[in-house]
Amino acid sequence: MTDVLTLGEAMGCLRGEGRVQLGGTMALGVAGAESNVAIGLSRLGHSSSWVGVVGPDQIGELVVRTLRAEGVDVSSIRRGDEPTGIVVFENRVAGVARVDYHRRGSAGSTVSGDDVAVAFAQGSPRIVHLTGVTLALSETAADAVRTAARLARECGAVVSLDVNHRSRLWSADTARTALSSVIDLVDVVIASEDELGLVAPSGTIAEQAGQLLAAGARAVVVKQGSDGATSYTADGVVRSPARRVRAVDVIGAGDAFVAGYLSGLLDGLPEPDRLQRANTVGAFAVASRGDWEGLPTREELALLDVTPGEVVR
Ligand code: ATP
Repeated sequence: MTDVLTLGEAMGCLRGEGRVQLGGTMALGVAGAESNVAIGLSRLGHSSSWVGVVGPDQIGELVVRTLRAEGVDVSSIRRGDEPTGIVVFENRVAGVARVDYHRRGSAGSTVSGDDVAVAFAQGSPRIVHLTGVTLALSETAADAVRTAARLARECGAVVSLDVNHRSRLWSADTARTALSSVIDLVDVVIASEDELGLVAPSGTIAEQAGQLLAAGARAVVVKQGSDGATSYTADGVVRSPARRVRAVDVIGAGDAFVAGYLSGLLDGLPEPDRLQRANTVGAFAVASRGDWEGLPTREELALLDVTPGEVVR
C-alpha cells in the first residue's frame, strides 16, 4: 500500500538563462505538477506512486529514471506510442518566467481510467492526489481523474485536489465544468485565491471556502504566495505566514506546498502544523532553482530555522 497515489503528465523541461529565440545552452530536467508532489513526498519519507504515460523516447526514459531515483514507485507508468511532452521555461526578465508547452497529443495526455484501475489493483493508497492540470489534458485524462476520485472513495482514501488552473490549457468556463464533475468527491481542496471561483460559486474567499465545506470538503487550503496560506475546516480558520527566504525560482512552489501539506496530513499533525510544514516545503522550492530539485528531506526541514551565515555541521 502506498501512502499517496497521484496521476498526471510528466515532461522533459528545458531551462536556459537567456531568451529562447536567441538560442544557446539549456539544461534538461523533468517537470510535472503531480510528479513534483510525488517527489516531494518521497523526500519527506512517505511512499508515493505516480501514474502516467511516457513515450518511447529518451525523454520518457529520463522521466522514469528520475522518478525512480527519487524513490517514487514507477510500476504504474505505461510506455505509450506518442512522444513524451516537453515544456520550455524562459526567464524573460528577472523573476518573470514564460512557459511554452509542447504537449498536445503527447504520451502523457493519453493516460486513462484503465491506467488508474491497474494502479489501484496493486493496493489501496491512503491519499489520492489530483490536479486540474490532468483534467485539462484530454478526455481520457479527465476520465483518469474521475476514475481515481471514484476508486479512492470506494477504498476509503482521502482525495485531495489542487485546482492548479492553467489558462494556456483551457478556458475558465471549461475548467469550471470539468472540475464540477469531481469536486463533490474531494476531501481536501487546495487552490490559490483566484482559483477558488472555479470550484465554488461566488462570494469572498471565506464564503467560497464555507460553500466547499458545506458541500463535503474537510479542508479548504488557500495558497497565498509570499503571504503564506490559510486553511478553512469545520474547526475554524488557520493562517500561517510564509517562511522568509530569498525567492530564486517560484515555479513549483505550489506543488511543494501540497507535498508538505499532505505529509503533515499523513503524519496526523494538527492543521496549524500541516500548514507550517506546507509553507516550509514551499519556501524550499522558492529558494532554489528548478521545480523539485531543492525540495527538502525530513531532516532538512529544520534548516530554515538556522540563522543565515551559520554553518550546519
Ligand atoms: P505555482 O503554480 O508556481 O507552483 P502557486 O500559485 O500554486 O505556485 P503560490 O501561492 O505562489 O502557489 O505558492 C505556494 C506556497 O509556496 C505559498 O503558499 C508559500 O507557502 C510558498 N511561497 C510562495 N512564494 C513564496 C515566497 N516568496 N517566499 C516564501 N514562500 C513562498
